[in-house]
Amino acid sequence: MSIQSLTSRITIIGGGPAGTSCAIELSNLGVKDVLLIESGDYSKFCIGESIPPESKPVLKHLGIYGAFRKEGHDPCYGSCSYWGSDKRGYNDTLLSHHGHGWHLDRRRFNRFLAEQAEERGTVVMKNTSFLEAKKLDIGKFVLTCENENNETLHITSDFIIDASGSRGVFASKQGSQKNTTEPLICLAARFKLSSDSKVSKLTHIEAQEYGWWYAARLPDDTLLIGLYTDGETVIKKKIQAFDRWLSLLKETPTTIEFINDAEIIDEKFKGYPAPSFCLDKAFGDNWVAIGDVASAYDPVTSRGIIKSLTDGLFAAEKIQQHLTGDETALPEFEKMVQANFQNYLRTRQHFYQLEQRWPESPFWRKYQLDEMNVDKLDA
Ligand SMILES: Cc1cc2nc3c(=O)[nH]c(=O)nc-3n(C[C@H](O)[C@H](O)[C@H](O)COP(=O)(O)OP(=O)(O)OC[C@H]3O[C@@H](n4cnc5c(N)ncnc54)[C@H](O)[C@@H]3O)c2cc1C
Repeated sequence: MSIQSLTSRITIIGGGPAGTSCAIELSNLGVKDVLLIESGDYSKFCIGESIPPESKPVLKHLGIYGAFRKEGHDPCYGSCSYWGSDKRGYNDTLLSHHGHGWHLDRRRFNRFLAEQAEERGTVVMKNTSFLEAKKLDIGKFVLTCENENNETLHITSDFIIDASGSRGVFASKQGSQKNTTEPLICLAARFKLSSDSKVSKLTHIEAQEYGWWYAARLPDDTLLIGLYTDGETVIKKKIQAFDRWLSLLKETPTTIEFINDAEIIDEKFKGYPAPSFCLDKAFGDNWVAIGDVASAYDPVTSRGIIKSLTDGLFAAEKIQQHLTGDETALPEFEKMVQANFQNYLRTRQHFYQLEQRWPESPFWRKYQLDEMNVDKLDA
């Protein structure tokens, strides 16, 4: 087993939207010697696919909008929901001055972002996982990582950006704590549509007593259907079993229509935790947490990806200022994350409270009366 030693001025842990956008913006700002380590290689399916029209100015700011358009993700012209009533509601992007949003092939989108970072000078090391960190007396960090060949790497860096997603593999070791609520659980399966399928390209949401269904048509004629509920309901209604999930889907008044001319891929679903939280401490001496490490949003908002892209962009500016001695820069970044999180909580609470058809449902009661409510955070 070999051991390699590397140095970099800045190391980013995680090559999702937050880490890659931060790398791109750092190089736009002229910050050099940036290394990004990513535990995967962008070959596996990745969930989270709807981005709103407001993503356009963010991609433009990063200087990658033209290249993004050439990637051929599917335009999404809005959403259609059955929420608070069995009557259909629309949210049409026709009225947005940014135009339409997108349904992404998320794996391809993440890989595209990493390639854009690489083209601008970031060294991207795929299949490389961060394991642990040691702080040296001089303020630098030594990261111990492992690659796909089980080789150990020691990376010595002046500054660390934790962009590893909701697990926050580095920030959690620095003592940061999550202000969190019980996560939603998403049970999702993919279906293959015929190429002439008439299935709507709008994002679809349908509330039911035990949670809510989501459907999105993705590029390559794939359909994603997910049930969002909580752990207690999964157990009580025995939804761990795929057959039960499918029979609940077939009992829905409208989501069922999506699978009429679709064939399930793999005859199984996958479970994903979808937590909502904000870190109490998003920065420390020579490190910062961005994207889903710093705060995670309910997928009903479809704002996780744009939030992580924006975090990456804003953090890059603040890191540049920090590196030139500005001590207010990182606290300002943390303040922005926390203020955005409070806005998000207000929106989420309002959204769940719009659904009043099942006052006795433990699922709806839980998220309408969220224990991490806005008042508590404001206190
Ligand atoms: C079920 C579900 C559905 C969602 N749907 C949507 C949606 O429709 N629209 C939307 O905008 N948002 C959605 N989201 C949220 C969105 O996916 C996230 O907010 C977004 O991916 C966060 O980006 P990120 O870069 O911060 O983290 P991530 O995308 O999680 O990226 C983190 C990266 O770090 C890497 N990593 C992790 N650990 C290590 C390690 N030890 N060493 C090296 N690398 C590591 C991971 O491989 C990963 O590539 C959804 C989330 C869930 C759970």
